[in-house]
Order: sequence, then C-alpha cells, then structure tokens
Amino acid sequence: MSDLLTLSGVSAGYGAIPVLHDINLTVAAGSIAAVVGANGAGKTTLLRTIMGQIRPTAGSIRVDGTDLAAVKVEDMVRHGVALVPEGRGVITELTVDENLRLGGLWRRNSAESARTLAQVYELFEPLQKRRTSAGHQLSGGERQMLAIGRALMAQPKLLMLDEPSLGLAPRITAQILALLAQLRDETGLTVLLIEQNVRSALSISDHGVVLNLGRVVASRPAEELASDTELRHTYLGF
Ligand code: ATP
Repeated sequence: MSDLLTLSGVSAGYGAIPVLHDINLTVAAGSIAAVVGANGAGKTTLLRTIMGQIRPTAGSIRVDGTDLAAVKVEDMVRHGVALVPEGRGVITELTVDENLRLGGLWRRNSAESARTLAQVYELFEPLQKRRTSAGHQLSGGERQMLAIGRALMAQPKLLMLDEPSLGLAPRITAQILALLAQLRDETGLTVLLIEQNVRSALSISDHGVVLNLGRVVASRPAEELASDTELRHTYLGF
C-alpha cells in the first residue's frame, strides 16, 4: 500500500515554545492510524500542524505526493485534508442539513455535492431523521456524527479527528469508531485519529503511534502496540 500522509523530521510549536520534535510518521492509504499518548504529549498540535494551522519550524509534510508547505489553511480541504476538531465545531444555530451543506460549499459541482449529501445521510441514519433539527437540539453522539459528516462533504482523502469520543457514552463511542472502520473498508478513506480511549481506538486501527513529550516513542501495527504491556504501562497508563 502506498503512503497517503508522510511527515519527515517535523518540528513545530507555539511561537518560541517547541512542542513537536523531529516527527517521522507515515499513514498508508486506506488505513486508520491512531495517535495516542498522555495529555500534553502534542497530539492536538500534530493535527493542527498537518492542517496548516501551525507552520512547522523544520521538516516536511506530504499528502498524496503534494508538499503542504505552500498550501494555505483555507485551501487544505481542496488538497484532500479535513479535520474534525475537538469540541466538534458544529454550528448549533444551523440545521443538520445546513451544517452538512456548508461542508460541501467550496465544491463547484452541485450535482456531486448532492450525491455526497445523500451518501452521508445513508451512512448516518440518525442524521437523516434530524435533517431539519438545529445543531443545539442534537445529542452528543448526533453532533459528533454531524461533525464527521460535514468533514466528509468535502470528500477528503485524509480525515483527521481530534478526540471524537469526548463526552460520549461508551456505546456511542463504539458506534462512531465502527463507522470510521466502515468508511475505511467501503470507501478507502485514510484516517488519522487521536483518542484517549486507547484500547477502543487501537481495536479499529491498523497502525498506532505513541507520542510522548512531542516525540514519537513507538510506531507499530495497532495490534502489536495494544499487546505490549510495558509500553502501555509506561506511556498509556493501562
Ligand atoms: P490533550 O490531550 O491535553 O489535548 P495533547 O497531546 O493534544 O494533549 P497538545 O494540546 O498538543 O497536547 O499540547 C502540547 C503542548 O503544547 C502542551 O505543553 C501545551 O501546554 C502546549 N500548548 C498547546 N496549545 C498551546 C498554545 N496555544 N500556546 C502555547 N502552548 C500551547
């Protein structure tokens, strides 16, 4: 399988404060990679750096062969990169339908957008029933589905999610993670996932990356990471 995302020697931070140090990371096309690690390890910073919200001070980031250094953050979606931020970013005053349409707004071909919208509704049945409900009327799980659905409206090659299970009941978390696996299996979507729920995340992931103090301390097949007791005790607390 070819690599969709490649980070080579990436360092980044906030102003003079370095957070990420010499990150090397690849995510194979059509796979799910989970980034795990303690609070403050730099997971969110990593996603924000890939998204272009923070510019690396060193190294390079390539998506599907394109170097992202020259790509503006607002153009990132055109290059196939979408981020579902922590807290989800749903616009609560707008309806489900309006939120989803916003996600496809930049696309010129409206017939194609309509097709993607139908696919999103097919995938997230609860949203279909709530099309005309305002964002604030949704449950936590529905909001998370909406945030993912909105990102999918851009038909990304790489979908990044920051803590999609935050505040959700375990059953709903399992549903959301299963949907990500379904998307990978059925559409070949590539996913980069940050999760506190390490066990659940690794169970649907192909690859796992452990970050500690802004450095990659392990990068291995997910199954192998999950069964490494010493690594789990040292970095993941279980
Ligand atoms: P969490 O799970 O707590 O969100 P994380 O692994 O996602 O943790 P980051 O949020 O990336 O970690 O934070 C990494 C480091 O960067 C922390 O030391 C944090 O204090 C620092 N940091 C995060 N955001 C900023 C900011 N806007 N300005 C300065 N430092 C920041």
